[in-house]
Amino acid sequence: MLFSELGLGPDVLRAIEDKGYTQPTPIQEQAIPWVLQGRDVLGCAQTGTGKTASFTLPMIDILASGRARARMPRSLILEPTRELAAQVAESFETYGKHHKLSMALLIGGETFSEQVKRLDRGVDVLIATPGRLIDLFERGNIMLNDIKVFVIDEADRMLDMGFIPDIERIVSKLPKIRQTLFFSATMPPEIRRLADAFLMNPKEISVAPPASPAETVTQAMALVHEVDKRKALRHLLRTEDVRNAFIFCNRKRDIDVLRRSLERHGFNAGALHGDMVQSKRTETLEAFKRGDITLLVCSDVAARGIDVQGLSHVFNFDVPINAEDYVHRIGRTGRAGRQGRAFMLATPDDDKLVSAIARLIKREIPMIAIDGLESAEFGEEEARPSRGRGGRGRDRSERTKDRGERAGREASREERAPRAEAGQREDRPRDERQRDERPSQPRESVAAAEARRSEPRRDRDRDRRRRRDDDDDDVAVIGFGDHVPSFMLRAARPRPADAARDTKAEALDGAQEG
Ligand code: AMP
Repeated sequence: MLFSELGLGPDVLRAIEDKGYTQPTPIQEQAIPWVLQGRDVLGCAQTGTGKTASFTLPMIDILASGRARARMPRSLILEPTRELAAQVAESFETYGKHHKLSMALLIGGETFSEQVKRLDRGVDVLIATPGRLIDLFERGNIMLNDIKVFVIDEADRMLDMGFIPDIERIVSKLPKIRQTLFFSATMPPEIRRLADAFLMNPKEISVAPPASPAETVTQAMALVHEVDKRKALRHLLRTEDVRNAFIFCNRKRDIDVLRRSLERHGFNAGALHGDMVQSKRTETLEAFKRGDITLLVCSDVAARGIDVQGLSHVFNFDVPINAEDYVHRIGRTGRAGRQGRAFMLATPDDDKLVSAIARLIKREIPMIAIDGLESAEFGEEEARPSRGRGGRGRDRSERTKDRGERAGREASREERAPRAEAGQREDRPRDERQRDERPSQPRESVAAAEARRSEPRRDRDRDRRRRRDDDDDDVAVIGFGDHVPSFMLRAARPRPADAARDTKAEALDGAQEG
């Protein structure tokens, strides 16, 4: 099928041609004609299928006639993360280049004033993360009663991130007569019920996920001791033909440590995680896409859904806590039929997590040895300094159990309460900081959300405030968590003079790594 057979206007077709697309993808082929007819659409499709163009292309045609009024956008697209929102905005720029549509991107981490100015001028397309949109709505900067087309993208991800109550609130402000396009990679019952509540007689479309990573990604795993992980990673980076790579860590605090270590060893590395201010996140991602940065050390949340073409490698510096994350992580490479390579570093305590991954992907990940490193065994006792309850004296199964729980707790806490840098505090309202990259929180059922909605508003606001305060307090550090700094595993040395202590410790750490 050709794009010209889908009913799109000549200016949109010209933009598609400029972009170099020759054929619509299956989701585009199925969705575009229905969207152009004004029907609601329920699309089951993942990123990588061409889903973004399946709604942006027809929306440009629909919005081409008519004019936006101040503070009253004509269409609204909700995205779970800022990066995805920015990607959709890029699509509108690319495909709408022969039109004069105005667009605003409302995402956290950027100043309100610019965004408000934009809204005042009137926008045809508003792309937002739920948190920032609600903040602007509550400040009276925006009215949603002129929305003609409403898009919810990545609905299952929104559910995971705890955004559903916010979305329900947003939907209650929209006009009843509107066109709604709803996309989700999966359709669990909660999402299905949400779709039933938001959509009217939708056209249902489902496309197969892009080729399973297992087919285009060569996977391997090295089993090493915790202290050898950085060395093992460096070995892989040096022996593999790495054009560009994501390196995933489970905890945000490890990301900068690893990036600095890689830089010290001469690698060109950047970092991407939810604690970074938005300008830095955007800048880093752009530098990575341009090829100025070769290695991006990142968290799951920051990297999810980001469309970076031609990633040659993915490294799992940590075995992911959730097996599904393994599939998402390695799916960042081997896209669009290209070959990719994915490596994972596992430690003796990771056997349960590795087994869960093998069960999910229905295959064992091939093991490789790392030259020059002593190989480790699953279940083997790791050399650890005694640290009270978590130390050597404890039975291994106890440690593994604690480890999973603690890592889950820490990952959850860290992603749940992203902290702005000092200068950004005023610009990033607290709501946004917490909502914009909220992690896998327990899912709230639609029934529970409905019950909660019916609570008196005052109680709800009080509970919200309490929850936020809890979140802010919830950053206590539990010892070293699961991370044992490498210098603690070395034999004791004479204490360096106090004055030079910090510098020397760093040098010592560097020597240990090298
Ligand atoms: P998405 O699923 O929207 O994240 O799109 C994944 C990638 O496919 C993006 O890099 C798009 O630029 C690209 N893409 C979208 N539609 C087409 C098409 N019809 N032909 C070739 N590439 C496409």
